[in-house]
Amino acid sequence: MAILLEQIRDRNVSMLFVTHDLDLAAAVTDRLAVMYAGTIVESGTSAEIYQRPLHPYTAGLLQSRPSTAEVRRPIAIPGRPIAAYEAEQGCPFAPRCPFAVDRCRAERPDRRTVEGRSVGCHRVEEIADQLMERAT
Ligand code: SF4
Repeated sequence: MAILLEQIRDRNVSMLFVTHDLDLAAAVTDRLAVMYAGTIVESGTSAEIYQRPLHPYTAGLLQSRPSTAEVRRPIAIPGRPIAAYEAEQGCPFAPRCPFAVDRCRAERPDRRTVEGRSVGCHRVEEIADQLMERAT
């Protein structure tokens, strides 16, 4: 990572970095796009997403990472990930989402701007504060 970051600075170029390691991503990137089942579900600045996730999948990723500050088991996201071709109607994350309601299973959420970020979740305004608690 040190070599890559040095090259970015010295050559004045951008880098697209694909990872499941949100700690690393937040440390070395300016912007994040969180993808689930082939779709961007949340995008914005890395610092904002890391500090206040607005999509349940983002919060789940943060919750499931190992902690260097305390000894605890990571909390896994229940269920299994799906490929883009497996997504049926509704929100692709609904089978694994603790906040899913009937609308989620029937109608795929469009991404819209919430708190200056692009988020694809029907219930983001209702659940944002609960996501924050789960991710910390
Ligand atoms: S739209 Fe519904 S199922 Fe999908 S992430 Fe939001 S709350 Fe969960």
